[in-house]
This record gives sequence, C-alpha cells and structure tokens, in this order.
Amino acid sequence: MSLSQLARSICESPTLKLNETAALLREKGEPVIHLGGGEPKSKTPIDAIINCSSLLATGEVKYTPADGIPSLKKSIIHYTEEHYDRLVAPENVIASSGAKQSIMVFLHAVLDPKEEVVFPAPFWVSYPEMVKLAGGVPVPVTARDGSFQPTVDEIAEAVGPYTKAIILNSPNNPSGVVYSDEFVAGVMELCERHNLYLLMDDTYNRLIFDGRVPTNCYRFSKVHNLEMSKLVVVNCVSKMYAMTGFRIGWAVGNRELIRAMANIQSQETSGPAAPSQWAAVGALNGVQSSIESLRLTLENNRNVMVKRLAAFPGVRVVKPGGTFYCFPDFSAYEKDSQKLSRLLLDRVRVVTVPGREFGMEGHLRMSFCGTIKEITEGIERIQWALDPQAPNEMFLGDRKIVRNWK
Ligand code: PMP
Repeated sequence: MSLSQLARSICESPTLKLNETAALLREKGEPVIHLGGGEPKSKTPIDAIINCSSLLATGEVKYTPADGIPSLKKSIIHYTEEHYDRLVAPENVIASSGAKQSIMVFLHAVLDPKEEVVFPAPFWVSYPEMVKLAGGVPVPVTARDGSFQPTVDEIAEAVGPYTKAIILNSPNNPSGVVYSDEFVAGVMELCERHNLYLLMDDTYNRLIFDGRVPTNCYRFSKVHNLEMSKLVVVNCVSKMYAMTGFRIGWAVGNRELIRAMANIQSQETSGPAAPSQWAAVGALNGVQSSIESLRLTLENNRNVMVKRLAAFPGVRVVKPGGTFYCFPDFSAYEKDSQKLSRLLLDRVRVVTVPGREFGMEGHLRMSFCGTIKEITEGIERIQWALDPQAPNEMFLGDRKIVRNWK
C-alpha cells in the first residue's frame, strides 16, 4: 500500500479511540467506567432542538454559505459583544464544523511549510497533529518548574524566525488550569511585538469555578483595530451547551484572515451542516440557564474528584480551575502513563487517558464530566489496583477479581 508521508506521520486521536474502546467493552457487557470522556452528560438545550427540528420539518435542508448562515453569524456577533465586549462584523466571523475545523482552517490559512506553532504543555492532543497536517512544526513548551503553566520567558525562548503562531487554551484541556491574566497578557504582548498570530482556544472559557470570571483576552491587546490584529478567538457550542455531536464552532478574527479561512473551508467541506447551524442559533439565542447548571454540576464533580485524589497516597493533584478534566501525577506508581492507563483498563475497566498524549508523562487525564458515582467508583477501583496494601480481592459487577499484579 502506498500512503503519503503525511498520512503516515499522523496518529489517530487517542481520545476518540478510547471512546470507541469503552463503547465496545460496554457492548460486551463489561462494567466499564469511562473517566476518559470529553463531553458533558447533559442534554441539548431545548431551544436548540426546537430550532433544529423546525428546519428539518420544512424539508428544505440545503447548502449554506461556506462560512455560516447569517443568523448564526448574528448570534456569534451577539455572543462576542456580550462575553468579550467587542463589536465585530459578519466578515470577522466564520462558523465551522466544530472548533476543531476552525482551528484546522486557521492553520491552513497561516502556515507555510515548516513554519512553527508554539503552545504550552500539557496541550490538547490534537494540536501537534493538526499543525503537522497543515505542513507546520509543533513546538510545545514545558514549564521547567514542572507546573502546568510555563512562564512568558519560557514561551519567548521557543519563539524563533520560523514561528508563525502561538496557541493558548485556557481553561486548559487536560490540566484544567486557568492561565493567569499576567501570563495571557505577556503572551499577547509577545505576539504583538513579534507580529505573530495568537489563537485563543476558548472552548472551555465559561466552564470555570471558584467564582472566577471568564478571561476576556481582548482586554490585553494593544491593537484596538481588529483589522490590524492577529488575535483569533475560537469558541464552540460543543462543551458549554453539551452539543458535541452537532459539530459547530467558530472563529473571530480580522477580515482578511477570515476570508482566507472561509475559502479553504469552502473547498474542504463547504458550510457546516444546516440543521446543526440552526441548532447552534437556538442554543445561543435561547435560555442560557443550562450553562450555569452544567458549570455548577462540574464544580461539584471537580470537588469530589480532587478530594478523592488528594486522599490517594503518592498521587499529586492540582485543583482544576475549569473544564471537566483533572490531570493527576501518578508517577509514584508508574512512570509510563500508557502502561498505567492500559493496566487500569485491562484490570479494573477504568478508562483514563495517558498523560504522554498531552505532552506530560507520568500523568493521567481523568474526566469529571460523568456522574459522582462514576467518579468515586472509578477512583476506588484505581486505588485498589495500585495499592498493594488493599485487600487482594474485589468485585467488578458480579465478577470477583484477584490482584495478581504489582
Ligand atoms: N479545543 C479543545 C481544547 C478541545 O478540548 C476540543 C474538544 N475536545 C476542541 C477544541 C474541539 O471542539 P469541537 O468538538 O467543537 O470540535
């Protein structure tokens, strides 16, 4: 078989693969606890369903403009005004099939071969592969102090003649860390000084805890005319409205860039699916209480997960300030995160994602977007699997298992 060099260089998304594995095991009746997931359990907001089904009922489901229907752009403009205090024009907005596509067309629009994209580690699994898909070179930056937020100087050290863009994702998948205002401001200043694009991946922007307010990155920019700015802000309905399956995300940026992104999108996929766009309009224009209720549930889940993990001897945990991910350090038990994640799946049927996928070995990404029962039982099973002092036998559903590994 002859596959391209590019195809051979791209890895499968490990998180999507784990979803598949968990679903297959569940189908076989295995008592799987999925702490590897990346989507809230809550249902699609009713306003999204009503809007989407109204379109379906007309039977007129047709192509849309490549960069999104005017109604969705209007809702996005309103969202940007309300949450970022920025008035933008329809030409500054592109709607895509998920935040993922917005990021992908951005990379295609700005990268020449071998140009570099810098981002802090740990990072969302897809950034390195997406940068490679666009012909670029991913440059992750790990904090020397072992924390989840490098310093601005460490980011600056990674910037060189080939750097084209920096990506920041806060709150961060997988660490849950909300980057400090000083850090975001410092990276913005760095980008503006070096004429680099700054892509703010705000996928989890409003899913934050402890009374914090979502970060508005525009506040830190010294370039007030959007058409002169290289700041691009990406959002989506996937997480905050629990609408992952609809696949709607968007980007806001200068017109020239957005036009280039729309051209690329028009050749790649055309506009996002019309029913999904209408659903997103419904979600954005409808009753907003579902976000706060999801946020509260997640904050409570976070508290339970952190408390349980803190009581786990040897495990180091940093309290997530947002998202629905926690990124504890299990290296006291096993330094190879892939090996550990495999052991937990094979022996006690708990799905976690190895930290190596996110650029940090020794950690596991554990989601708290499920139920409290899943969180507590999942952590209990992990503790049983790893603690040599624990009783030798445990029941998984109605099956007795015996710990015969070290
Ligand atoms: N950015 C980050 C940081 C994410 O975690 C995800 C989804 N896991 C995305 C972007 C993609 O979002 P979407 O599903 O809207 O494509």
